[in-house]
Amino acid sequence: MNFKIALIKGDGIGPEIVDGALKVLEAVQKKHDFVLEYTEVLAGGIAIDRKGSPLPQETIDVCKASDAVILGALGGPQWDNLPGDQRPEAGLLELRKSLGLFANLRPAILFDELKDASPLKPEIIGEGLDVLVVRELTGDVYFGEKVKEDNAAWDKMIYTRPEVERIARVAFEIARNRKKILTSVDKANVLEVSRFWRSVVLEVAQEYPDVTLNHLYVDNAAMQLVINPAQFDVILTGNLFGDILSDEASMITGSIGMLPSASLGEGTLGMYEPIHGSAPDIAGQDKANPLATILSMAMMLRYSLNMEKAALEIENAVRKALQQGYRTVDIMSPGMKVVGCEEMANRVVENL
Ligand code: NAD
Repeated sequence: MNFKIALIKGDGIGPEIVDGALKVLEAVQKKHDFVLEYTEVLAGGIAIDRKGSPLPQETIDVCKASDAVILGALGGPQWDNLPGDQRPEAGLLELRKSLGLFANLRPAILFDELKDASPLKPEIIGEGLDVLVVRELTGDVYFGEKVKEDNAAWDKMIYTRPEVERIARVAFEIARNRKKILTSVDKANVLEVSRFWRSVVLEVAQEYPDVTLNHLYVDNAAMQLVINPAQFDVILTGNLFGDILSDEASMITGSIGMLPSASLGEGTLGMYEPIHGSAPDIAGQDKANPLATILSMAMMLRYSLNMEKAALEIENAVRKALQQGYRTVDIMSPGMKVVGCEEMANRVVENL
């Protein structure tokens, strides 16, 4: 089996972490007998320098013609003074939009070996954490009408039925393959848009009688995540609440260098990237943690290439490297073996 993969290494630590992830994918391909055909394209700061735009048309075309997109990270201080719409990060937003990616998946998994890194007390973490936030990416107050007057300003919070239906289906499908518990988060006690959201989610729920659906107000959800996170399996929410809750959920796992993400659209095309940025402070020093990117590759295998077994093998190989005591500096604790970006990727490959 052959798959077309668009490769965007990006800026800062982007090339280092993506190279580490590619080694892991090479090992998985050998084991499972499939071929990834990469086309490397530019986006972000490097694209500004070489092509004059943070998102050249060629990049969009190659990504659209691919089965999945792998992205390292974009941005850096040398491009900070450019106008907002010409900055590296603008390329990323535009790329998500061009590819119709409306569902952002952020798993917050706390590996046992990294329990010390969580800001939560051990008695709250209990058996561990495995929460998946499904955030809608293309609607809500971010894309509604924006008005600024001299003495007032407002942003329209709007969701349409098709937007809610399609993100709800993504969340129900995923919940169906996990613990079958879905929590939809809104502010239906106050907002009309939330009451509409809730009613549409309830309609979609009819198609998934095997999944238990709960509703929580966002203020309560924020609280529950830090007092009893184990109650959650999949959280479904809109763009604004999802922005905040996915950061909160991620951070209870301790380290930004560990957290993968997937952005999905209608078909199987998805974009896979770590949630962290380009870390210019450590770029080119072989200090970056490649595990968030490596775990994003597991998500790619799971959601775009339909290879659950290979995805689990990557996740287990990462867990084993942590069990063996290997740590990059961002997750270092006393008594562990500090390794660089390249070495950490090699350890994961060895475990595969
Ligand atoms: P950052 O995530 O790049 O770095 C924050 C801190 O975390 C830094 O100290 C960094 O060294 C550390 N860190 C991040 N990833 C790490 C890793 N894999 N291993 C070890 N340490 C890691 O955030 P920032 O400093 O606010 O932003 C730097 C640049 O990245 C900016 O230009 C920003 O706009 C951009 N950015 C890009 C994305 C993206 O491409 N998706 C996301 C966020 C920020």
